[in-house]
This record gives sequence, structure tokens and C-alpha cells, in this order.
Amino acid sequence: RELKQYFPVKKEKIRQKKQFVKAVDDISFSIKKGTTLSIVGESGCGKSTTGRAILRLDEPTSGQIIYDQVDLANISRKELKKMRGQIQVIFQDPFASLNPRRTIRKMLYEAMDIQQSVKKEDREARMIELMTLVGLPPDSLERLPHEFSGGQRQRIGIARALAVNPELIICDEAVSALDVSIQAQIINLLKKLQKELDLTYLFISHDLSVVRHISDRVVVMYLGKIVEIADKKDLFSKPLHPYTQVLLSAIPTIDMNEERVEIEVNGDVPSPINPPSGCRFHTRCPFATELCKTKEPELAEKENGTGNHLAACHFADEIFNKNSMKI
Ligand code: SF4
Ligand code: MG
Repeated sequence: RELKQYFPVKKEKIRQKKQFVKAVDDISFSIKKGTTLSIVGESGCGKSTTGRAILRLDEPTSGQIIYDQVDLANISRKELKKMRGQIQVIFQDPFASLNPRRTIRKMLYEAMDIQQSVKKEDREARMIELMTLVGLPPDSLERLPHEFSGGQRQRIGIARALAVNPELIICDEAVSALDVSIQAQIINLLKKLQKELDLTYLFISHDLSVVRHISDRVVVMYLGKIVEIADKKDLFSKPLHPYTQVLLSAIPTIDMNEERVEIEVNGDVPSPINPPSGCRFHTRCPFATELCKTKEPELAEKENGTGNHLAACHFADEIFNKNSMKI
């Protein structure tokens, strides 16, 4: 809720005034238990920062993170450690921060030990169960991380997250490094596990074609702001924000009912140190007017939305209508 994450700009360049990268600037969203909420956007939009703030891997500048009625942003490190068992994260490379000379068995055992998630006498059976859950043979336990392929490594990453019986799993670009067919396998595995274990996912990705297979709800971010939130179906069939339309036009369509708008954007993403005034997308938006340069659009329900569908654009309704008429 109203989460802000400002990082002090390092580099000696800026001396006079303290400047901050507004990596995440006043965003609010919630995830329903047992569902998947995705955050999409280009790199630097603040999606990973949001995930890291929830885990307090980076301290949020301000705001609240309510989890089970507890504000994670404002509890002590000690209390947080207790909660950490309930929230796990899977990164692009699950082994990046792990000792490569540790067998999978040691790694899982350690995860269970830290959180005391499984009684000592039950750990052996639980490890074998975890391997079965993620679709790996039990003898994988005796092997080392480098003996596995990318997809298998991600399965182990999932097993490690599950070892502490979490409720919420944050997947940060968890399938981005994998081939498309392996991506599909891992996504199917995540969906299966969600059903079986009633897991909640926060799925962070730059890739809308991946997001469409796993999400219930989607948040689109641009330069630290949420520009659109909607249920997956609505976002893909009725994207209201020009930026969402741009992202969508970059992926191939399968569904003929989806209204596709071809929009060309100008230039690159501006720096988050000095984000554009007004609507942050105005420097690239083909529909921008004078108003867009000065007035920041509010994230609000639009007349074309299907309920629970919010967009932050002064002209979302007009642009959507105009574009749908063209098709
Ligand atoms: Fe484009 Fe203006 Fe809408 Fe921003 S508010 S997305 S600049 S039309
Ligand atoms: Mg990232």
C-alpha cells in the first residue's frame, strides 16, 4: 500500500541536492490468497524492487506491506525472520547465491533447519516428497547444482522454496532464462503446485506472453508507477493504457477476440532519477497532449473497464474507443 522505494543515487555526480531514484513511487495493490498477481514492465520499471521490498531485501522508504494483517514494512528484523518462512522467493538463477559444492540434500535440509519448518525425523521423507512434487527423481538429492539443466535447476529452486511450507512465493523472472518449451513446463508445474498447496504467487516478469499463462490479475508498471491493473482476461482483451497496448502489440496473438492496437512509441525509457513530469509516459506516448505534460493521471476505474480495471491515463476511454473503431 502506498509503497515507495527511493534509492539514494550513489555516484559523486550529484552533490548539491540529494537525489533519489524513484524506483517505486507510491504504488498500491493487493493479492488474493491462492491466486497469482503478475507485475510486468520493462527493466527498471520497479517490478523487482517491489518484490525485494516485500521481502525487505531492500528497505522500503515508506508505505505498508500488509501480509496476514501484519505490516511487514514496519516490523522488527526478528519478527520478520519468523514471517520469512511464509514468504519465499525464486529468482532467475536459483543457485546464484548458493554454495555450488553443496548437494541438493544439504541445501534442502538447511532450508528446513533455518525455518524449523519440518521436524528432524520427518525431513528425509519430506525431501523425497519434494522431489516428487517438482518432478525430479529422488536420487537428485545426492547431486550438485551444476549437474542439472536450467529447467531442472528451477525445479530445485521451487523445491527449496517449498521446503519451508510457504504461503506466498515471489517469482522474479523465474522462467526468463529458459527456453520457451521449458518455460511452459515450469509454469505448468507452478500452476499445479498452486492448486495442490493453495499457494499465492507474485509473479514478476518483463514478458507478457509468460504472464498470460499464469496470472489471475496483472499489474503493469512504467517508471515506478502502476499504469494499469486488471484481471488477466480484461487486460489482454481490453488494454486501456497506451503503454499496455504497446507491450501487447509486441507479442504474437493467439486469441482472435483480442483487440490489438498498433502503437509506435518514441525513444527509450527515460531515467527514473528524473522521471518526466505529469504522465511519466508522455515523452513516448503518441497520444500525449499538453495536459499530459503537467498533470499526473490518477490510477482510476475507466468507463470501458469491466469492473476492477484501473488505468492511469487522462484519455484511456477516448483512445480505447478510437482504436477499437479502427479495427
Ligand atoms: Fe499518453 Fe497522456 Fe494517457 Fe499518459 S495520460 S498515457 S501521455 S495519453
Ligand atoms: Mg528485475
